[in-house]
Amino acid sequence: MNLQYNFGDFMITDVWDVIVIGGGPAGLTTAIMCSDRHLKTLVLEGGTWGGLPATMYPSKIIPNYPGFPDGITGIELVRRWIKHAKESEFVTMKRERVIEIEDWEKIKKVKTEEGEYTGKTIVIATGTRPRELGIPGEAKFNRGDKGVYYFVTHREKFIGQRCLVVGGGDTAVDAALDLLDLADEITIIHRRDKFRALEDSVKKMEESGKINIKLNTELKEIRGSDKVEEAVLYNNKTGEEEVIKVDKVILAVGLKPNIELFQKIGVKTDDRGYIITDGRQRTNVKGIFAVGDVVQGAFRLLIVGAAHGAIAAQKIYEYIKKPYWAGEDEK
Ligand code: NAP
Repeated sequence: MNLQYNFGDFMITDVWDVIVIGGGPAGLTTAIMCSDRHLKTLVLEGGTWGGLPATMYPSKIIPNYPGFPDGITGIELVRRWIKHAKESEFVTMKRERVIEIEDWEKIKKVKTEEGEYTGKTIVIATGTRPRELGIPGEAKFNRGDKGVYYFVTHREKFIGQRCLVVGGGDTAVDAALDLLDLADEITIIHRRDKFRALEDSVKKMEESGKINIKLNTELKEIRGSDKVEEAVLYNNKTGEEEVIKVDKVILAVGLKPNIELFQKIGVKTDDRGYIITDGRQRTNVKGIFAVGDVVQGAFRLLIVGAAHGAIAAQKIYEYIKKPYWAGEDEK
């Protein structure tokens, strides 16, 4: 690459048109679509390529991604996504963690643990990470395979185990269902009197006959010496406490957007930390776009992340190349 950018009294070489931060479905789609527009695009991913489908639900069959009437596993779908990005002519992918961003208005500087890059635009595609519950015992056991997890990835760890799942959303209910053919005992607790997860999944869980469902129930404490041994449950209707024997606890209590780097340069978020965009994936900072789960109001679905990527690519093209038809869709 030998792009140059005249920056007043000095010249910057090697300026990317687009630097996408995050290599999940939304980030990869942005890159693929930018490549279609011949925009030189760098994608930086500090963790696992493929984002949440690769880390949180690789073996889950995604039943409703268009074009796959028989369903497709999370990992297979993102494998194809990654291949598509890799084979896109104008896309370069680097596994590097971003540690700092500087916004010099027309040019953005992105520092990673390995190097520094400059781009005309940045796309925030950093998604979300599991929220911690913050109860006693959680921090003691949530690292080093001691029994507290935030999703079911290495399924073999759960074989023959007594498992407790916490949460009422799709991640929790999917986790309980995923454990059906692995665990010896499964209990799911939710603080409300009904679940928020997809009705079909809740029905499957209720009809399984193997999952012990406790509503209006919260987790107060996780106990054990070297690894998880007990969980203290609390019924928020009756006030009763109960101690159950468990080996594994899966905390599926929602997700938290990864936005710390961007707040520092003035990107606006809502009170829950999700990035505010204008409906065309533009943030309040010129030349900075946001796509996927990190965006306020996004339905957290793969298809929505992909759609964001397509919109962002179009708007980035208009922003950089300024074609005569720019903004026609906004009139
Ligand atoms: P979520 O929908 O935000 O659910 C989080 C659950 O944790 C809620 O039931 C919430 O209770 C509970 N919770 C939060 N804080 C708690 C606390 N302090 N104590 C006890 N419980 C607490 O998160 P998610 O399940 O990870 O799903 C995230 C998004 O991804 C959703 O939009 C979901 O639909 C989507 N997703 C979809 C699929 C699928 O399509 N199959 C699979 C996975 C995820 P309340 O209900 O009381 O708030």
